[in-house]
Amino acid sequence: MNAIRLYDTATRSTRDFTPLKKGEVSIYVCGATVQAAPHIGHIRSGVNFDILRRWLIASGYTVTFIRNVTDIDDKILHKAAAEQMPWWALAMKYERAFADAYRALNVAPPTYEPRATGHITQMIELMKVLIDNGAAYAPGNGDVYLEVRKLKKYLTLSNQKLDDLQSAGDAEDTFKRDPRDFALWKSSKPGEPSWPTPWGPGRPGWHLECSAMAHAYLGDAFDIHGGGLDLVFPHHENEIAQSEAAGQKFAQLWMHNAWVTTSGEKMSKSLGNSLQVMEVLKRVRGIELRWYLGSAHYRSMLEFSFEALEESAVAFRRIENFLLRAAEFLGTEPEKNIAPEFAAVMNDDLSVPQGLALVSEWLRAGNAALTASEKSIVSQSASHIRGALDILGCDPFDSVFAGGEKKSLDKAVDSLISLLLEQRDDARSRKDFAAADAIRDRIASMGIVIEDTPTGTRWSIN
Ligand SMILES: [Zn+2]
Repeated sequence: MNAIRLYDTATRSTRDFTPLKKGEVSIYVCGATVQAAPHIGHIRSGVNFDILRRWLIASGYTVTFIRNVTDIDDKILHKAAAEQMPWWALAMKYERAFADAYRALNVAPPTYEPRATGHITQMIELMKVLIDNGAAYAPGNGDVYLEVRKLKKYLTLSNQKLDDLQSAGDAEDTFKRDPRDFALWKSSKPGEPSWPTPWGPGRPGWHLECSAMAHAYLGDAFDIHGGGLDLVFPHHENEIAQSEAAGQKFAQLWMHNAWVTTSGEKMSKSLGNSLQVMEVLKRVRGIELRWYLGSAHYRSMLEFSFEALEESAVAFRRIENFLLRAAEFLGTEPEKNIAPEFAAVMNDDLSVPQGLALVSEWLRAGNAALTASEKSIVSQSASHIRGALDILGCDPFDSVFAGGEKKSLDKAVDSLISLLLEQRDDARSRKDFAAADAIRDRIASMGIVIEDTPTGTRWSIN
C-alpha cells in the first residue's frame, strides 16, 4: 500500500496519512446547501475530493465517502418564499441540479448522501448530550446554544483566539450567555417549518447537522473531513466544538480545497448564471470542464476565464486524440497503468500539476512513437496516460463520457464527412480544383481537422 502524505489544515503541515482502520478510509465532505443551481466554484470541491477518493481506491483502500445535502436553511426558506414554492420542493429541485452536475463531471456518488432533514433525531440526541454535560444551554426561547467559553479548545483549526473573536451580532444575542456562543438549534418563526424538541419547536443550525450526520455514518472518530476553504471558520470550528464537547474524537485530518476565483476574488453570484455548470457545459464537454477544474492543485486558487478554459480544453483534446490514435494503431484500447512516478506525485498531497507534467512527457514520447510506428513505446505511453487520466476522472474511454448519444453522433458526423470527402475526390478527379478547395474550406470552417493517414482519412474537432 502506498504511503500517502496529505496537508492537514489542523496541524498546518503535510503529514503521513494513516487511517484509523487498516485498509479502510472514512471521509466526510460538507455538501451543497441546495438553494440554487451549482456554479463551477461549487463543483470544484466535488471534483477535488473525487480525485482524492479515486487515488485512495487505486492505492488499495476501501473508502466510505459521506457527502451531505443541506436541505433546510435560511436561504432555502427565503428563495422558496420568493419563488412561491414549498421549501422542500425548492430543495429537491436544486439537489437534482447538483446531482446532474456531478454526473456530467463524472463525480462518483457518495457512499451515502444524507439529508439534514432526515437526521433531526440524531441532532436532538446530540443536543441532549451537550446540554447534559454542561456544554450547551437552552435559554427558554426555543433556541439551543453552545457555550464556547466552556470548551477546552476552540478555534485551533483557524488559528484564532477566542478573545479576538467578535460577536456574530445576531438578533438572538440577548438570549446568549456570551455573544460569541453559536446556535445549535433555532426556534421556529411563524410560517417556517419546524420539528418538535424538548426545548420547543424549531429547526437545525447548519453546524449541528454535519456533526450529527458524520457521527451517524462514521462513528466517534473518522479519518478525513473535507470542504471548501471558506468553511474552516465558523462551520468546521463549530463542528469540532460540538462533536468534541460530546466526547467524540471526530476528524483525524482536515482537508480544504481552494476556490475558483474571478479577478482574484472568490466567485460571486454577481456573475449571474454564466458560470453555472450547465451553462459552461454548452461551451465545453463535461470531461473538458472536469480536466480544467482538476488541473490545479486542490489547495491553489484557480483563476477562471473562458480563455483559460478553452486553452485547457484544446490541450485535453490533444491528449484524447493521441489515446484514440494509439487505440487505432494498437488495435485495442490502451491499458490503464499507474506509472511509479505518477504514484509518487499523487502520494505527495495529490500534486496533480506535477502529474500533468508527466502526462505531457508521455504524450510527446507517444506521438513520436506513433510517427515511427514503435508499438511498445506507443503502448506504454498510452497506458501511463490512461492510468493518470483515470485517477483524474478524465478517461476518454470511460463509458460515462463515451455515452450512446455521443457514439451515434460520432457515427453520423463520420458519414457526413465521408460524403464530403468523396465529393472532394470527385471534384479533384474531374480537375475542378475550385470546387475541391471550397469543400475543404467548408470542412475547415466547421472546426473539423482532416488528416490523411496510412489507414485512411480521419477527422477530429479542433
Ligand atoms: Zn459541514
